[in-house]
Amino acid sequence: MTGTTVTGKHYIGRFAPSPTGPLHFGSLLAAVASYLRAREQSGEWLVRIEDVDPPREQPGAGDAIVTALGAYGFEWDGEIIWQSVSKPQHDDAVETLLKEEMAYPCRCSRRDLADAPRSPLGIIYPGTCRNGCDAEETAIRVRTSDDAVSFDDLLQGTQSQRLESESGDFIIRRRDGLIAYHLAVVVDDHLQGITEIVRGIDLMDSTPRQIWLQQLLGFPTPGYMHIPVATHPDGQKLSKLTGAAAIPLRGKRRVLVAALDALMLHPPEDLAAYSLSDIWAWAINNWQIEPLVLRTAVPVAANSMAKLENPVS
Ligand code: GLU
Repeated sequence: MTGTTVTGKHYIGRFAPSPTGPLHFGSLLAAVASYLRAREQSGEWLVRIEDVDPPREQPGAGDAIVTALGAYGFEWDGEIIWQSVSKPQHDDAVETLLKEEMAYPCRCSRRDLADAPRSPLGIIYPGTCRNGCDAEETAIRVRTSDDAVSFDDLLQGTQSQRLESESGDFIIRRRDGLIAYHLAVVVDDHLQGITEIVRGIDLMDSTPRQIWLQQLLGFPTPGYMHIPVATHPDGQKLSKLTGAAAIPLRGKRRVLVAALDALMLHPPEDLAAYSLSDIWAWAINNWQIEPLVLRTAVPVAANSMAKLENPVS
């Protein structure tokens, strides 16, 4: 089953970080790519802080992300949205799915599922509570089917999953009442009229579950572009220093140029000598997706890595 893709509409893109830590180099790439794509399409670029999972959040991280985006010269459209404000709409979507019997309460604990089969997506829910369960506090799962859910990623080509075999019915509201990421992201992208999602490839295997929810809720499916992950020149994952650490607020121009380089835009040697707004103007003029097609990883050049690790003002 393929969703109705939004076409011919005014472009609205977004960057939707979770405040689980500061803006790091990997998330900067998603921010830069989604921003340049929106500007190239003469569209809007929205920022949404996905603060719906307090146990995983780091105090102050949301504000720190917003400060870093501003300092790096991103210009977002409209107000920044904090996802927790749409909790009533998230709950409404869960209620709709329950009413339509497309979702059901589940009392299974992690321990109950310890022996369940697994796939690269995690536990494959064996359907224990599909036909009813009696418990006071339950999670809510959405029913899945084994029809293929497919989409054409703008960079990574056609992707397809059979959800019933690959993930089984998945959680949309946790036992503690918190809304699961897949449901929150789908409802908010719809509320904000997002027409295309540009984000890291680590989220690509979540997309069929999100398209499934869009279909059940009657929402159009946006376009998708999953950008490669940045690695060390030797292909290793970025270290804690460069991979998870906050991007520095000193030496921003060099870091931004390193991001443009990682996105394979081939910035000129001396670009970092220019102002942030000149760098952005260059990036908007030179943005292209072709070099990223079918790439799942992009090495960050050794000299860019050095700049990232030793920022100078
Ligand atoms: N909030 C998610 C994260 O930071 C990303 C959501 C998305 O881009 O769809 O991993």
